[in-house]
Amino acid sequence: MATNAQLFERAQQVIPGGVNSPVRAFRAVGGTPRFITRAEGAYLHDAEGRRYIDYIGSWGPMILGHGHPAVVDAVQRAVREGFSFGAPTEREIELAEAILALVPSMEQVRLVSSGTEAAMSAIRLARGATGRPKLIKFEGCYHGHADALLVKAGSGLATFGHPTSAGVPPEAVQHTLVLEYNNLDQLEAAFAEHGAQLACVMIEPIAGNMNFVRASVPFMTRLRELCTRHGALLVFDEVMTGFRVGLQGAQGLYGRLIPGFRPDLSVFGKVIGGGMPLAAFGGPRAIMEHLSPTGPVYQAGTLSGNPVATACGLATLREISRPGFFDALSARTRSLVEGLQGAAREAGIALAVDCEGGMFGFFLAHELPQNYGQVMATDKEAFNRFFHGMLDRGVYLAPALYEAGFVSAAHTAEDIAATIDAARAAFAS
Ligand code: PMP
Repeated sequence: MATNAQLFERAQQVIPGGVNSPVRAFRAVGGTPRFITRAEGAYLHDAEGRRYIDYIGSWGPMILGHGHPAVVDAVQRAVREGFSFGAPTEREIELAEAILALVPSMEQVRLVSSGTEAAMSAIRLARGATGRPKLIKFEGCYHGHADALLVKAGSGLATFGHPTSAGVPPEAVQHTLVLEYNNLDQLEAAFAEHGAQLACVMIEPIAGNMNFVRASVPFMTRLRELCTRHGALLVFDEVMTGFRVGLQGAQGLYGRLIPGFRPDLSVFGKVIGGGMPLAAFGGPRAIMEHLSPTGPVYQAGTLSGNPVATACGLATLREISRPGFFDALSARTRSLVEGLQGAAREAGIALAVDCEGGMFGFFLAHELPQNYGQVMATDKEAFNRFFHGMLDRGVYLAPALYEAGFVSAAHTAEDIAATIDAARAAFAS
C-alpha cells in the first residue's frame, strides 16, 4: 500500500506540483497532502487507512456529507440513462426551476460547469448588457481564474490593478479596479471617478476566500445605491455562499437586513452541483436575454447542463429544501465555532469566530477582520501549527488561513465534540 508521501512523490512526476488545483498541495501549511481513497458522511479516508472528520467538504459542495443515499441513487439512475447528450433535457428545466424558486432576484439562469466559467460569463454579460468596459472587484475575493479577475490592487486609491498571475497581460486587467473590502471611502471615490464606465461590481457578499469576512450592512447598502444610481450591475458571487449560508444564499440574508435589497446578477456553483461539475449564473430576463442565442453575448459549453450533474444538483437541492434543514445545520456549525473558541480560551489563546448556515471561519486574533489586509495580519505560523495539530488528531481543516470551513448535515454532535477535544489538545501543545 502506497503512503501519502509516496503518492505525492509519484504525482509530482506527472502533474504540476502533484495536484490539479494548487491549494491541495499544502504549500501554505507545509507537509504532505493526504491522498483520499474514499469518503462517507462526514469522513474522509486517506491512502494510509486513516480517517478524518472533513471540514472542507470538497471546498463547499458536500453540504449533505459524502455519499448521501438520495443523491447517490439519483446519480446512478442518471448514469444509466446516459452521460451526456449535447441536447436539451427536461432535468435542466427542473434544476433551473428549482433554483429560480429559491432565488427571487433571478428570472432566468444559465447552467455551466465551474464557478470560474460562471463568473467569467457573468462579467461578459454585464459588459454586453451595459455596453461598458470597467468592473470593480475587492481585494481578497476570489471569483475563479478568468484573466480579468486575476488582479490585485495597484498603488494608491481607486487605481487599476496588476495581474496576480504570470500569463495575464496587463491589458487584460486594465479595466478592473480593485478596492479594499468594506471600505466605503474607496467605493465612493471609485464611483465618483469611473461610475459612468462601470459595467458591474462583483463581490463575495460573505467572502470565503479570505477565511470568513462579511460585507458590512452599511457597505452593502451603499454599494447597492451606487450601482443603481450609476447604472452598474451588482453581481453577487455566491459560488460559496449559495445554498450554503441559507436556502436563499447570502442575498436572502442581506434582503432581510436591507429593505428591498437584491443583486442584479448572481453566480452559483459548489452546492448546486452537489459535488459534480455544475455552476450557474442568472438574473432578470431583460439582462439574461442578451445571452446567445437570443442576444449578442456569446457563451456556450459542451457539457453545460450535463444530465448526471443536474441529477446530482437536483437531488441535493431537494434535500436541503426540507423544513428545518438550515436551522439544524446552523446550530451544529455554531456549536463547532463556539466550542473551538471555548477551547482556545481555556488555553489563553484569542480566537475570533463567525459562521452562517453551514459555513464558518476562525481567526487567531482578538477581533474579526474586516478586509484582506487584516486577515493576512493574523498569525500564520500559529495557524499552521494548529492546522497540523488538528490533522494529526484526525480533523481535516482547510490548509490555509484564508479559506472558510464547511460543516455538513452528516456531522453529528459526537463529531463536533471530538473536533473540540482535538482542538483543546492542539491548543494545549
Ligand atoms: N467564486 C468563488 C466565491 C469561489 O469560492 C470559487 C472557488 N472556490 C470560484 C468562484 C471558482 O469556482 P471554480 O473553482 O468552480 O471554478
